[in-house]
Amino acid sequence: MKDDCQFCKIVNGDTSTQFLYENDTLVVFKDINPHAPVHLLIVPKKHIRSINDLTQDDKNIVSEMITIARDMAKKESISSSGYKLFFNVERGGGQIIFHLHLHLVGGW
Ligand code: AMP
Ligand code: ZN
Repeated sequence: MKDDCQFCKIVNGDTSTQFLYENDTLVVFKDINPHAPVHLLIVPKKHIRSINDLTQDDKNIVSEMITIARDMAKKESISSSGYKLFFNVERGGGQIIFHLHLHLVGGW
């Protein structure tokens, strides 16, 4: 937990953000400013700044983020129509929240 991190606060349950899914590793919630009919964020509980900061120990976290994103797409009924999964990395890559998160967008 990083004190000044908005997503650490969310993950920690310090905000009113509703989780669509939660397990020991991660949480899933709706993006507050959706760019698609379905726009979810898959967020690890561990504070990791960005993809640049991943270590060997984080391999399982990233793998789980992707498989849960796949499961959430199915739950949201966008599996067969299709969707995008992406990470923004650092400012030049469009990252504005410096706590790792995977975007799931689709439903057009
Ligand atoms: P990124 O540009 O990859 O850092 O994406 C950060 C995303 O977090 C943006 O799409 C924001 O709309 C979203 N966001 C920021 N604050 C919140 C919040 N409190 N709850 C849900 N989504 C948020
Ligand atoms: Zn954080």
